Amino acid sequence: VVRTSGLVKTFGEVTACAGIDLTVRRGEIVALLGPSGSGKSTLLRHLNGLARPDSGEVEVLGVDVVGAKGPALRALRRRVGVVFQQFNLVGRLTVMENVLNGALGRVRGPRYGIVTWPKSVRAEAFEHLDRVGLADRAYQRAGSLSGGQQQRVAIARALLQQPELVLADEPVASLDPETAASVMDLLVRVCGEDGITMVCTLHQIELALEWTRRVVGLRLGEIRLDEPTELLDAVRLRGLYLSNPVTVP
Ligand code: ATP
Ligand code: MG
Repeated sequence: VVRTSGLVKTFGEVTACAGIDLTVRRGEIVALLGPSGSGKSTLLRHLNGLARPDSGEVEVLGVDVVGAKGPALRALRRRVGVVFQQFNLVGRLTVMENVLNGALGRVRGPRYGIVTWPKSVRAEAFEHLDRVGLADRAYQRAGSLSGGQQQRVAIARALLQQPELVLADEPVASLDPETAASVMDLLVRVCGEDGITMVCTLHQIELALEWTRRVVGLRLGEIRLDEPTELLDAVRLRGLYLSNPVTVP
C-alpha cells in the first residue's frame, strides 16, 4: 500500500528525512515514533504528496506520488483519509455538514454554493456518526463540541471518504489521557472493521504499545527500529529518545 525508497528531504541545513525505506502492507496499523524533529510529520506528508522529496521514490496505493501531477494527486488524496492533531473541522458548520465534507470528492459539478447531498450519502454520513458515537450531535455546531468529540467527527469525515489508507498526525496529542485512549481505540477499531491501512504518528510510547501492531522508530530522519509491537517494550522504545549524539556539520 505504501512504499518509499531512499526518501530524502532537507530544509536548508536540516535533514528531515535521511533516506527512508518504508513498506506498509494492506491492513497494517503502524505507529511512527521518535523525538520531536525526527521527521515523523515530514515522512507522513510525503505519503499524500503534501511534501515533495529531494530524492527517492514514494508509491502509495499504486500511485507514483513524486511523479503525480494535479489531477492524479487529487485522485490519490480522495483515497487517503487524514486526521490531524487540531481536528480541522469547520466550527461554525454542523457536525453533519463537517462529516459530509468527507464526500466532497465524490460529488460532480460545481464546487461552490450549497451542495444538495443525495439521500444515500446523508444516510452513510449518519451511519459513520453513529459508529463514532455522535449520532445525537448531528445538528449541533461542530465548534461547540469537546476536543475528543471533534476528533470523532473528524474520523467520521475521513471514513465517509471511503479511504483505503488513513494518515493520522498526532491524532490524540491535544486530548487528555483518557480521551486519547478512547479515540485511539475508535480509530484502530474502525480502520480494522473497514480494512483500512493506517499510519499514525504518536508521541506517547504507551499509546503505540497499546493500540498499534507495528512500530517504526525514527531518529534524526532515519529509521532506527521497525518491529511488531508485541516484540517491543517501553524500555527499548525509550532508547529512541535518548539525547542526540553531537553532529559535526
Ligand atoms: P514533532 O514530534 O515535534 O511533531 P516530527 O518528528 O514530526 O516532530 P518534523 O515536523 O517532520 O518532525 O520535522 C523534522 C525536521 O524538519 C525538524 O527539524 C523541522 O524543524 C524541519 N522542518 C519540517 N518542516 C519544515 C518546513 N516546512 N520548513 C523548514 N523546516 C521544516
Ligand atoms: Mg510532527
